[in-house]
Amino acid sequence: MRIDVVTIFPGLFGPFLETSLVGKARAAGLVEIEAWDLRDFTSDRHRSVDDEPYGGGGGMVMTAPPWLAAMDRIGADRSVHRILLSPQGDRLDDARVRKLAEVGDLVLMCGRYEGIDERVRELVVDEELSIGDYVLNGGEVAAMVVIEAVCRQVPGVVGLADSVENESFRNGLLDYPHYTRPPVVGGLSVPEVLRSGDHKAISEWRRRMALRATRAKRPDLLDEG
Ligand code: SAM
Repeated sequence: MRIDVVTIFPGLFGPFLETSLVGKARAAGLVEIEAWDLRDFTSDRHRSVDDEPYGGGGGMVMTAPPWLAAMDRIGADRSVHRILLSPQGDRLDDARVRKLAEVGDLVLMCGRYEGIDERVRELVVDEELSIGDYVLNGGEVAAMVVIEAVCRQVPGVVGLADSVENESFRNGLLDYPHYTRPPVVGGLSVPEVLRSGDHKAISEWRRRMALRATRAKRPDLLDEG
């Protein structure tokens, strides 16, 4: 799995890419991730990436040439899937995350300001992705969401394959509740069955709790099934 991110703030990705599971996955060679500075693809002295909008109005628009130059260079030697992070894109969900993990070679394009000149979308973007119906200042945090969600699907990144398979949304259900020591917290005890050692009973209880959580918190998931 390889992910290239193009941004005017590559520094935002430093600690993110070195920490926790993403950091470990990179160190183990399970995923390769590189953050590129869009300004490295500019050709003027000021390394400018934005200009005033045609038609007037507030805000600036990211110009097409640096983006096209970056897309020419990144993935020139291989087939890549280019994703524009955008509030106007399809909403990211578990099914799409799994599909992206299968694609394997992603380029994440992070907009800023009012967004990127529309012709970039028409010329080089394969897919427009949103992380939700709200507007962020830029695509960087959205790119981190995609990276973290997709990397979890790469075999070996999350210690036990089982813990990815039983997570929320897999099998159309939310996850069951989890408990750890101490056995009593604020007067609440751990459900007896989890301390029984009866694996069949534990598995049935977890399935019932997953159904109950889904019915209470996300009944729409059951309707979809
Ligand atoms: N003018 C745009 C609009 O109203 O649709 C919003 C531009 S936003 C301020 C700047 C950049 O942030 C976008 O180009 C996109 O890359 C990113 N962005 C903002 N909200 C996002 C979201 N919900 N999902 C993914 N990317 C988002």
